Amino acid sequence: MSHRLLLDTSSLMYRAYFALPRTIRDPDGSPVNAVHGYLDMTARLISSRSPDEVVHVYDHDWRPARRVERWPGYKAARPPDPEGLPKQFDVLREVLSALGQPQAEAEGWEADDALGALCSRANADDRIEVVTGDRDLLQLVRDPSVSVLFTVKGVSELAVFDERAVRAKYGVEASRYVEFAILRGDPSDGLPGVRGVGEKTACALVSAYDSLDALLADARLDPPEGLLARHPRAVGAIREAEPYIEAMRWLVPVRSDVDVRVLRGVRDDDRLDALAARHGLAGPVRRLREALNACAGGDASP
Ligand code: MN
Ligand code: MN
Repeated sequence: MSHRLLLDTSSLMYRAYFALPRTIRDPDGSPVNAVHGYLDMTARLISSRSPDEVVHVYDHDWRPARRVERWPGYKAARPPDPEGLPKQFDVLREVLSALGQPQAEAEGWEADDALGALCSRANADDRIEVVTGDRDLLQLVRDPSVSVLFTVKGVSELAVFDERAVRAKYGVEASRYVEFAILRGDPSDGLPGVRGVGEKTACALVSAYDSLDALLADARLDPPEGLLARHPRAVGAIREAEPYIEAMRWLVPVRSDVDVRVLRGVRDDDRLDALAARHGLAGPVRRLREALNACAGGDASP
């Protein structure tokens, strides 16, 4: 049995960038606020949860062509990364590697998919906590093995989602969160959802039908026999959205079958000191090193 923290590094760095002042800079004047926030968050997580291992997981491709083929609008309207963030990823990779922290990605896929694959490979008695600001990943929640720590404010406050918390917040079982997300959509990812179906209706539909197939089958009946009989407007919307729903059934679930490459650096304290000095990260690096030293299992070795 092992307890692992899987960090959605791409999502968390983005949040940290906006949560911390951009006046946090290295001696050359480049912002290092996201790295700062990310390293401090990691140190806090290691101290508070004492995991056996922490894995930092990156988007290898934040907008995979395979998803865009199914739905061209997928993330199409996303603004480009703010200036000053991409370079901070390079700094973070160097620091984590000098700390001997495992870093993972799946070629051609999002961090979401790499995380999905890592969760699917866990042993039954493993405990995994996925740390993210991306609600897509709530679909991975499974008691007792996988829970999600979701960023509430910046990256300093996290909400724990187990099956009960998913039910309490969204009214659906975690195992069916993905169907709920398909119907509801996600405008920030360019996914409009089914016309007129918000969280409340999506929840009611997922609860009333055993599967999306059962929902679609009922929508094809004239008149429908299930819950749709009482929601005439939703019937037309669902019929109309059938191709959309088919595309989403492919697009929204995170993959469990992608190859994940894990790079394990070797802890090198001299290199780490040099990096910390060069990038103005002495404080966060010291705090993270202390957290790792105090939590024997926090480094890469079993
Ligand atoms: Mn993501
Ligand atoms: Mn996502």
